[in-house]
Amino acid sequence: MGGTAEHAVVIGASIGGLCAARVLSDFYDRVTLCERDALPDRPANRPAVPQGRHVHLLMARGAQEFETHFPGLLDAMVADGVPILENRPDCIHFGAAGHVLGTAHRLQDEFTAYVPSRPQLEWQIRKRVSALDNVEIIHATVTQPRFDRASEQVTGVHLESGSVLDADLVVDATGRGTRLPAWLQQWGYERPREDVVFVGISYTSQRVRVPDGLLREKVIVAGASSTQPLGLGMLFYEDGIWNITTFGVGKAKPPQDYAQMCALADEILPPHVGAALRHGTPLDDVAHHKYPASRWRRYDKLDRLPAGILPFGDAVVSFNPTFGQGMSMTSLQAGHLRRALETPGADVVRETIRATAKTTFPVWTMNAIGDLTMHRATGPAPWWYQPVGALFDQFLGAAETDPVLAEWFLRRFSLLDSLYMVPSARLVARTIRHNMTLWLAQKRAGKRPVTFEAMRETR
Ligand SMILES: Cc1cc2nc3c(=O)[nH]c(=O)nc-3n(C[C@H](O)[C@H](O)[C@H](O)COP(=O)(O)OP(=O)(O)OC[C@H]3O[C@@H](n4cnc5c(N)ncnc54)[C@H](O)[C@@H]3O)c2cc1C
Repeated sequence: MGGTAEHAVVIGASIGGLCAARVLSDFYDRVTLCERDALPDRPANRPAVPQGRHVHLLMARGAQEFETHFPGLLDAMVADGVPILENRPDCIHFGAAGHVLGTAHRLQDEFTAYVPSRPQLEWQIRKRVSALDNVEIIHATVTQPRFDRASEQVTGVHLESGSVLDADLVVDATGRGTRLPAWLQQWGYERPREDVVFVGISYTSQRVRVPDGLLREKVIVAGASSTQPLGLGMLFYEDGIWNITTFGVGKAKPPQDYAQMCALADEILPPHVGAALRHGTPLDDVAHHKYPASRWRRYDKLDRLPAGILPFGDAVVSFNPTFGQGMSMTSLQAGHLRRALETPGADVVRETIRATAKTTFPVWTMNAIGDLTMHRATGPAPWWYQPVGALFDQFLGAAETDPVLAEWFLRRFSLLDSLYMVPSARLVARTIRHNMTLWLAQKRAGKRPVTFEAMRETR
């Protein structure tokens, strides 16, 4: 684009809308964020973001990206008590698809992760966006964008109050419930194709105060697997309280109360976790949430789009929340928007949509393979998903006792080195060698579980 334009309107002031507004503020004279929720002046949950009551994991890459959009954010969060994932093996218990990784050795130095609660992160970002001179956040519900048929352009938004805001660009950051596909149809355009994976996830969460000293970890994750449709994630947040989220995939019913949550912890986590939870004090009510399907709206495949409207954040793609990627992928999208705005003559909407599709593809595909082959999800699955899923299961099995493979996986899972989860031929060979050695060691040990230390002795 280059230069400045007059007014941008962003619909929705959650993580997506705030990131978009931050970027637009450098290119537009004025930015108005319209949010239907009354926004709290402190870190707090709010009705229109019900997912905020459940565990939200900020990936290491997401933290880095947020810092580029909001310099000083990470230090400020740490000053407010947000835990850092220290470079220590006992800081994290990480189980993926039935394999436990991340406890065997120290991760490399640059792997620094932060553990803000969802309300904390949103509040920190909102504070910074509100402080920008040319940004205004207003408490208003948008009923629909204003579309000018003659110029095939969105020229503003209608508010529930009856007033209209003129705009050169409207960003739809209204989340998974976006009505943009219906509006497009109403204006005579095609709806975007939707790629959908029916994951059938139910969440049950509880905040718990656990007495000091019982848990050294700050992040405890046990994902679902092909044999166990229930999972559990626990994060220790800045308020000194654990948020515990249990979930079921493929329509499996998760625990419904705290006693059942503790029983699940006994089943799928090391014994000290369940024991610590039984000493804990549950706070508030148990929160429930259903997430039927991951959905990618393929605006990148549309030949025609009206000018002046950009879909953003979960309104474009909503990833399986148990993988903890949504906020980080939204922060990457903000980078795409910035680069498009910086490019002289670029079609900002088209370019942002194109770049977003490019970064979405590898993450979406890997999630779909995991969900459709291991997590009882349903949806279209190309023939090659099954063999790739089986190979990946082998890889994760080897990563349980091979720190090189474990680190490779954890860095990719954190979206750090690359968004593509494709091991090199060297790593595949290492996996095969490792699994053969493991198999031989198990045979010799008479099927006793083989530990990382035992593996070292075998080599
Ligand atoms: C259960 C669950 C768990 C998750 N866990 C994680 C995790 O661990 N890690 C992670 O990175 N991500 C996670 N996510 C995803 C993450 O919450 C989203 O990616 C992130 O919030 C970005 O979404 P968004 O801003 O695009 O939309 P949303 O957060 O859905 O926000 C949409 C906003 O638009 C506003 N709005 C809607 N319609 C209107 C209107 N007409 N007028 C005005 N305002 C409107 C709403 O009030 C809301 O504030 C999870 C999601 C779910 C559902």
